[in-house]
Amino acid sequence: MKRVVIAGSGNAALCAGIAALEQGADALILEKASVDEAGGNSRYTAGAMRFAYQSRDELLILLRDPAHEQLDRTDFGSYPKKKFADDLIEFNDGQPLNDLQEILVNDSYNTMLWLTDHNIGFDPIYSRQAFLKDGRYVFWGGLVLEAQGEGVGLVAAELREFLRLGGQIQYECECRELVTNDSGVGGVLCNSPAGEITVTADAVVLGCGGFEASSEMRRRYMGEKWADVKVRGTRHNTGAGIEMATAIGADMCGRPDGCHAVPMDLHMPDFGNLDLPEFERKNYRKICYFLGIMLNANGERFLDEGENFRNYTYAQFGREILNQPQEFAWQLFDSRVDDLLYDEYRFAETSFVEADTLGDLVSKLDGVDAESALHTIQEFNNAIDPAKVFDPTILDGRCTAGLSVDKTNWANPLDAPPFKAFPVGCGITFTYAGLRIDKNAAVLNRDAEKIPGLYACGEMVGGIFSTGYPGGSGLTSGAVFGRLAGRTAAQS
Ligand SMILES: Cc1cc2nc3c(=O)[nH]c(=O)nc-3n(C[C@H](O)[C@H](O)[C@H](O)COP(=O)(O)OP(=O)(O)OC[C@H]3O[C@@H](n4cnc5c(N)ncnc54)[C@H](O)[C@@H]3O)c2cc1C
Repeated sequence: MKRVVIAGSGNAALCAGIAALEQGADALILEKASVDEAGGNSRYTAGAMRFAYQSRDELLILLRDPAHEQLDRTDFGSYPKKKFADDLIEFNDGQPLNDLQEILVNDSYNTMLWLTDHNIGFDPIYSRQAFLKDGRYVFWGGLVLEAQGEGVGLVAAELREFLRLGGQIQYECECRELVTNDSGVGGVLCNSPAGEITVTADAVVLGCGGFEASSEMRRRYMGEKWADVKVRGTRHNTGAGIEMATAIGADMCGRPDGCHAVPMDLHMPDFGNLDLPEFERKNYRKICYFLGIMLNANGERFLDEGENFRNYTYAQFGREILNQPQEFAWQLFDSRVDDLLYDEYRFAETSFVEADTLGDLVSKLDGVDAESALHTIQEFNNAIDPAKVFDPTILDGRCTAGLSVDKTNWANPLDAPPFKAFPVGCGITFTYAGLRIDKNAAVLNRDAEKIPGLYACGEMVGGIFSTGYPGGSGLTSGAVFGRLAGRTAAQS
């Protein structure tokens, strides 16, 4: 029987494990973290997964509760492969889709079916991906389902399935070096509670995350500015898999400074937390900027908050904030949109200020030129074309005209007190550069040849995301390439 050893226990690694077991191999997961901290960034996620679907029926068979009465009042629309492909191309620096991106699009729905077959339940994301319109829930932005229990639920369900199929997992076992022999990679050297150990394998799958939690690697690949950013997820993804593989000749690809980075509460802790009173996570993310405006220290707007649905902008806007003077911004809203703000704007530790007049509000924006801020808001309010009706379920074209930075959609004047403002900074989610793999998830060396016995999946694979990211693609990518890596590793 083939023995497949997998580094990491997030979504990608667990999918690799399940797929290897399906092929009749033995599968052992080596996880650096303790049981409490295992599961990687996948556990921090909202569990939202982007995939192509043609019809409502294709969605219903993925649902945990396909008879739920709310479904009768729900419009999911469709998200054809062509649209998923177009969404990726939008962020591809002018390049056509590469082989891995084609696989991501084409296998996305099949992989959702496969997860469903492996007892992963999915629910519609009513709270963040739909708005009520004329009594119906209307989804927007191509992202409709989340795993039951979000990321925590997803990882728990995948781990349950992995163990049910006979897989084994060793916690507090940090993979440090790949062991090679005449036929290729034959094992991994690890630090474990029993000391340094070598675990032998017929094939090794690396699913141990990117380098977003390593300040040193961020500085090396992304530049000085990124060295001190806050990390939204796990502290354990310090690029070990990438370092181990490149040490034996693996090639890297993808934009070195590419990353998913999001507007976050300026006062969030340095790393994410899994402080979860039954899924009511302290969510420091702040991504409802499309309902208001953002101001920098100069009191100026610096981007088009309504450029597109937030699924297509939030992962880029963290970087935009990092590029502002003093690397922060404030998000401003009036009471008109208060009900539409996500729950993340309401949990107890949210940083915000509130005022009944705009004059008072700008005086409370720490670090901001108040006079300039007031001028910017008044100028913004006066530039809105009121002819178009505000509708957050579509690109409503309710825009400003004549500003140096116009807002393209969802432009409402800030004129209904009380006003609220939230200070935000940049939080990195995960890195885009990583190992170069082929269409079977085999890791390639610098001569574009396979390194026998070595496979990779998930965040640590390069070349899938480039200048941006359609929300919900990370988990799908992990599942698609995890499944592929586990299957081919078991067959190798
Ligand atoms: C707050 C947050 C919210 C997100 N929300 C979403 C969302 O809703 N939808 C979506 O698609 N994506 C989301 N993402 C992105 C998503 O988390 C990633 O794309 C995906 O989870 C990556 O999965 P992975 O298995 O590659 O890595 P991870 O889940 O991070 O797993 C890597 C694992 O490797 C382990 N590890 C690291 N080094 C070693 C080593 N040396 N030896 C052994 N083990 C090691 C880690 O401890 C970890 O368990 C979110 C990310 C964050 C941080």
